[in-house]
Amino acid sequence: MVLKMEQKYYQKEIETMPVEEIKKLQSEKLVKQVKHVYENVAYYRDLMDKKGVKPEDIHGIEDLHLLPFLTKADLRDAYPYGLLAKPLEDCVRIQSTSGTTGRRVVAFYTQKDVDLWEDCCARAIVAAGGTKEDVCQVAYGYGLFTGGPGLNGGSHKVGCLTLPMSSGNTERQIQFMMDLSATILCCTPSYAAYIGESLKEMGYGPDDIPLKAGIFGAEPWTEEMRHNIEETLGIKAYDIYGLTETSGPGVSFECSEQTGMHINEDHFLAEIIDPDTGEVLPEGSKGELVFTSLDKEAFPLLRYRTRDICVLSRKKCSCGRTLIKMAKPMGRTDDMLIIRGVNVFPSQIETVLLNEGYQPNYQIVVDRVNNNDTFEVNVEMSPEQFTDKVSEVIAKEKALANSLKTMLGINPSVHLVAPKAIVRSEGKAVRVIDKRKLI
Ligand code: ADP
Ligand code: ZN
Repeated sequence: MVLKMEQKYYQKEIETMPVEEIKKLQSEKLVKQVKHVYENVAYYRDLMDKKGVKPEDIHGIEDLHLLPFLTKADLRDAYPYGLLAKPLEDCVRIQSTSGTTGRRVVAFYTQKDVDLWEDCCARAIVAAGGTKEDVCQVAYGYGLFTGGPGLNGGSHKVGCLTLPMSSGNTERQIQFMMDLSATILCCTPSYAAYIGESLKEMGYGPDDIPLKAGIFGAEPWTEEMRHNIEETLGIKAYDIYGLTETSGPGVSFECSEQTGMHINEDHFLAEIIDPDTGEVLPEGSKGELVFTSLDKEAFPLLRYRTRDICVLSRKKCSCGRTLIKMAKPMGRTDDMLIIRGVNVFPSQIETVLLNEGYQPNYQIVVDRVNNNDTFEVNVEMSPEQFTDKVSEVIAKEKALANSLKTMLGINPSVHLVAPKAIVRSEGKAVRVIDKRKLI
């Protein structure tokens, strides 16, 4: 047997470029991009004029802070064409956000934009060990959602044999995975967990499938969830991050070190700001992630506030990449629940549940009754954990409520529910039902 050459990087020169050179490249691109936007996007020109900034004031990345922010509200205001920087006849694609937090927004791509986006996804696949000898099963949704098309394009660029399954039809996913020897799986982490669960139900274990790696993203997931998926599928699970507004998945990706995601800094300039004041925070601080697209032609957002909470780090990485890393986002500012005055992230709850031996099938329900917040966590028992003995269930609920209280500082009411009582997700999981917002 001939040993295959492991390909370590997709675009080595960029991925391992000395930091000073990357910064120089970013500065050059930023100056050009600001001109492009000012000349072609009236909406952003107005924002710059209001702030008294001209393209001539931007000499490099040190001047980035002078530019105004863009928010999701601006995108909704400017919907659909208000932030377009190229004539429509130069565009070849439209994608849309998932609408997780409200009305969907749309993004436009020229052929070059699609190409660069696919390159970013290709970098992620290679970092997860992908080569042209791999079969890459893409089980993200295809269509307006960027997950499917992005990873599909990246997989082609690497030269993998691409299996464009889209999401859903889980038994068929597993059948094809086995019949066609898929070695890499791309989908949301909640769908990966569901595929793992179905595999078990079909009477198979991790050794029965040829998968070696998974590239999972599009929603927050904890380290505990990662271990759970790695075990059930027998793979190494890599994180990938992105958002439609900046192209889609591939803004950042994980390498073999699995300690945060390298940002494709040659295309996306990242900042961390204080979400309340807008002040730029020093490296290592926790805050809201802001991106500036340095190369996008059709939909080049400058200083776009993602609302994702995270930390940046330039610590040296063992993979050899010099690209800055972002920690796993904790969730979005608007995912954070304030319950009885206490800040709660769904990811904290997920950590406790998985540590206590439960599966990642849960739902958080928050309501307000007589001016008091109610806080329920419904957690599914696995078939092995299931019992119909009331006293046992009550004892388990109490134990779990105690662990959650230790983590969160407030007391939830925990309900253990029967296996399969919580709806599974084939895309982004809906973990929180906040009835207070519905009023
Ligand atoms: P929507 O904003 O409607 O969900 P998108 O499909 O564009 O639309 O989703 C982008 C968002 O998904 C990001 O802003 C982030 O909140 C979340 N996201 C994407 N990848 C990850 C990831 N790896 N970890 C945590 N959150 C992620
Ligand atoms: Zn690395």
